[in-house]
Amino acid sequence: MNLSSNEIRWLLTTSDPEAVDALMAEACRVRDEVYGRRVFMRGLIEISNHCRNNCLYCGIRREAGCKRYRLSPEQIMECCQVGHDLGFRTFVLQGGEDAWFTDEVLCPLVSDIKGRYPDCAITLSLGERGAESFERLREAGADRYLLRHETADRDHYGRLHPAEMSFDHRMECLSDLRRLGFQVGAGFMVGSPYQTLDTLMKDLSFIADFKPEMVGIGPFIPAAGTPFENEPAGSVELTLRLLAIIRLLHPQVLLPATTALGTLHPTGRERAVAAGANVVMPNLSPRDTRVLYAIYNNKLATGSEAAESVADLRLRMQAIGMEVPVDRGDFYGYDNKEITNGQYH
Ligand code: SAH
Repeated sequence: MNLSSNEIRWLLTTSDPEAVDALMAEACRVRDEVYGRRVFMRGLIEISNHCRNNCLYCGIRREAGCKRYRLSPEQIMECCQVGHDLGFRTFVLQGGEDAWFTDEVLCPLVSDIKGRYPDCAITLSLGERGAESFERLREAGADRYLLRHETADRDHYGRLHPAEMSFDHRMECLSDLRRLGFQVGAGFMVGSPYQTLDTLMKDLSFIADFKPEMVGIGPFIPAAGTPFENEPAGSVELTLRLLAIIRLLHPQVLLPATTALGTLHPTGRERAVAAGANVVMPNLSPRDTRVLYAIYNNKLATGSEAAESVADLRLRMQAIGMEVPVDRGDFYGYDNKEITNGQYH
């Protein structure tokens, strides 16, 4: 659907509840037309909270002073085993930029997971790496990569990150990933410090230009021990409107109901699905490390956020009329793949 930038600005700011309800309903209709009433799940494995970066918002930044951990390849394989038994067909390996996870460690791990679970997709979310590294990981069998652009406004990027980090390098990584044939996930926080309606409009233009297969958005939540620890959290309401608008603009995009939304609102994930989201990412990390991957305060790690409660998650989704299939949940292509009865060729 085409929405003019004036229409988008109006939808983001209007206080007309009927217009907002109509936006959500239309987003669901568009999602259902492409994907059916299905929510895909991914098992999130937080492999390390060591990080060489110092992003001002992030609770595991280099200077955060938090307790550090890293999972061994054996522990990661065990998480995959548990996840596969629970019906997960995508594993997301996420972490800080931990130099311990060299290509020499990661490539064999990726190909082991792939060899053992050929019916599964592997998604990596390990921050910025060189093009050669991305290429090796792709060759080892990684299918997807999540790297939020964080903000498409260069000045805003500079206010969220230390000077040593570069907007251009983040963008370069995204285009490398695209060129190497990954399904790519971009995204941004809603309500990060210094964000404005104009920077959000730039995020939407960037998404329209880059056409990521996935867009991860969630509210900013302050993290203890960071320069932004006293900043206000982002708005759940605004996040939901943005999800719906992104669904309308990009009917085929994979749109997660993020943990950050679930953290700020008890039914945040259900509300995200009712705004057009179609992915959930329960936590498959070992229980004792979940609390340590504290990128923001009070991050949910139990209840239906926990992978072992997948039955509960299914019930919650069924209660809003959605199925949670045992499925990789691949992107339904833009123009190179035809959609027939919900299956693409
Ligand atoms: N190191 C990886 C993974 C980062 S964690 C990378 O650079 O991609 C995944 C996402 O969590 C980040 O991209 C960021 O958008 C989000 N995040 C980090 N701190 C946050 C906070 N305080 N509130 C909300 N989201 C946050």
